[in-house]
Amino acid sequence: MLSFLYLDLNYFIIVGPALLLAIGAQLWVKGAIHRWSQVPSESGLTGRQVAQRVLDEAGIPGVQIEPSHGMLSDHYDPRERKLRLSPQVFDGRSVAAAAIAAHEAGHAIQHAQKYAPLELRNIAVPVAMFGSGVAPILFFVGLLLNSFNLALVGLIGFAAVAVFQLITLPVEFDASRRARAVLRDTNLIVSADEERGVNAVLTAAAMTYVAALVQTIMTLVYYVLILQSRSRRD
Ligand SMILES: [Zn+2]
Repeated sequence: MLSFLYLDLNYFIIVGPALLLAIGAQLWVKGAIHRWSQVPSESGLTGRQVAQRVLDEAGIPGVQIEPSHGMLSDHYDPRERKLRLSPQVFDGRSVAAAAIAAHEAGHAIQHAQKYAPLELRNIAVPVAMFGSGVAPILFFVGLLLNSFNLALVGLIGFAAVAVFQLITLPVEFDASRRARAVLRDTNLIVSADEERGVNAVLTAAAMTYVAALVQTIMTLVYYVLILQSRSRRD
């Protein structure tokens, strides 16, 4: 019983700060988007139009742009070659809408140019989905059954999630870098204030991916400590 108490305390000490960081990153990105959604872009173009311009500029035909449902649901689907933008971005004429639309178009450019980290990330998606869903269950079932090997399999599965999130970082940073460059080069963003807004939104969005990785790594550290203390006891 004491050891359980000790482990739970460990959870708060090790994973707690990472959880707070993740919550902070979410609040930060929502705040940045909220703020810059209220600033109209000088180009007056909607997010859909911005994405189309970015794709045209990069010489990438055949990518469909359609509205998606729900806030922050913006994404690029490489299988269907569709760029789905949330209603606020699709129809929005704000600095935030331009930034997000250009970022997602950046993913479509990565795909068309066979950008290696994106290809790697797409291959790793099923592994990561399996890992994040099943690995923690395997780990704790392994602990319950006193099966070190089963718990270890869970641990390795969870480590795969961390690797996936690590590969995601260059993909996200690169998409934002492309977005900034195209917005500037094509005069979709003109004033220094607009540029500040684009940077604020994209930097905050990138931080959510960093925070997610930190959270996974710290959870992994926690799992390793549990396994260590168990194997020491056995
Ligand atoms: Zn992205």
